[in-house]
Amino acid sequence: MREGSLLQNEAVVTHKKQKVKEQFHLFLTKKRLKATLQRNLILDAFVDLDRPTHMDELYLILRSKHSHIGHATVYRALRLFAAAGIAREFSLGDGLTRYELAGHGKRHDYLVCSDCGTVTEFDNSVIEQRQLALARSMGFTVEALKIELRGVCSRCLTQSG
Ligand SMILES: [Zn+2]
Repeated sequence: MREGSLLQNEAVVTHKKQKVKEQFHLFLTKKRLKATLQRNLILDAFVDLDRPTHMDELYLILRSKHSHIGHATVYRALRLFAAAGIAREFSLGDGLTRYELAGHGKRHDYLVCSDCGTVTEFDNSVIEQRQLALARSMGFTVEALKIELRGVCSRCLTQSG
C-alpha cells in the first residue's frame, strides 16, 4: 500500500514538473527567448524545492551544485518564471520577494524564519475549519485566510546554539 502510494506520488511530481517545463518553454518560444541550460537548471531546482523560496535561497541551493550560476541569472530566471505564469510572486512584508509555483494549491500557511527567511508550509485544515466556522457564526463571509508564524527555524537554532 505505502509503496504504491509513494510511486503514485512520484508520478504526480514528475507529471507536474513536465507540465511546468512545457509551459515555460512555450513562453520562451513566444518571447523568442532561448531555453538555456542555466534557465533549465534553475527551473529544475525551483520545481524540486516545491515550497516558497526567494532569490538568495535559490541561488545558494544552485551554487552548491553549479558554481557557474550567477546571482543575476537566478534573479532574471525567477522574473521570467513569474512572467510565464509558472511562479507566483508574493511578499511577507520583510523586504524579500518570494516565489512559489503557481497552481501550487491554496494552502498559504507559513512558518517564516526571521534569521534565514526560509518559508515552510504547513497544513492547518483543522484550525482553518474552526476559523471559518467562527467567522460564519458572526455573520462574516471569509474571502482570504492566511496563517503566518514567525520565529527561528531548527537549522538556524542549531547554528546559533
Ligand atoms: Zn532559519
